[in-house]
Amino acid sequence: MIQVRDLHKSFGDLEVLKGIDADVKEKEVVCVIGPSGSGKSTFLRCLNMLEEITSGEVVIDGEKLTDPKVNINKLRSRVGMVFQHFNLFPHMTVLENVMLGPLKVKEMKKAETEELALALLEKVGLSDKAHVYPGSLSGGQKQRVAIARALAMNPKVMLFDEPTSALDPELVGGVLEAMKDLAKEGMTMVVVTHEMGFAREMGDRVIFMDQGKIMEEGKPEEIFDNPQNPRTQDFLRMVL
Ligand code: ADP
Ligand code: MG
Repeated sequence: MIQVRDLHKSFGDLEVLKGIDADVKEKEVVCVIGPSGSGKSTFLRCLNMLEEITSGEVVIDGEKLTDPKVNINKLRSRVGMVFQHFNLFPHMTVLENVMLGPLKVKEMKKAETEELALALLEKVGLSDKAHVYPGSLSGGQKQRVAIARALAMNPKVMLFDEPTSALDPELVGGVLEAMKDLAKEGMTMVVVTHEMGFAREMGDRVIFMDQGKIMEEGKPEEIFDNPQNPRTQDFLRMVL
């Protein structure tokens, strides 16, 4: 589903990604861990064309991102993204937030879109919040709306960038549950996370990034129980 070859990304003189190679298969859940500043968010943003690639190649579902003919909106609609901060529109109801993407980009009919949005809100456990404004929701509820909103585009891949790290601890569980449901349904997912429990339980593979490179990757039990790279070992000692 995703192929990344020798991906480099620089901001001016600062080289943030120094040659990333990665593959994500259909239905695979890949968790990305690593210290702050290691380039995890930049990596995800390159997958979604929120950042321009400096060099290298990214292919998503057969579409080469650097191909000048690629339709950015179409590609983005196939790659859903959920951020640390929810970026919901405060002046729109929860339902309107979820309906916006399909109405604008996919030109879906209103009634059909509403039906879809209500079904997605039910899926993330928020049917009763459809007609309220985001301001009256908890952080965890907002994040679940953000997940529903991303799913409304019927993406082939979902990217999550630390979706629970801005949440109060008691709200983390509900968001992780929604993500687990999605993984169990076979969604292809790349999840940058500090939730090592989630990575261990749900990850088919864990990637450890440091200083703009993938230092180590493997099955969760390999990475968590028997890390080979000293940097992975140091990182896990700090976070576990
Ligand atoms: P992580 O998500 O692992 O914490 P980031 O991808 O956010 O790491 O950042 C990696 C590095 O890239 C950091 O040094 C950060 O300051 C830098 N960086 C990220 N985005 C930009 C940008 N738009 N302009 C300049 N530097 C950036
Ligand atoms: Mg980040």
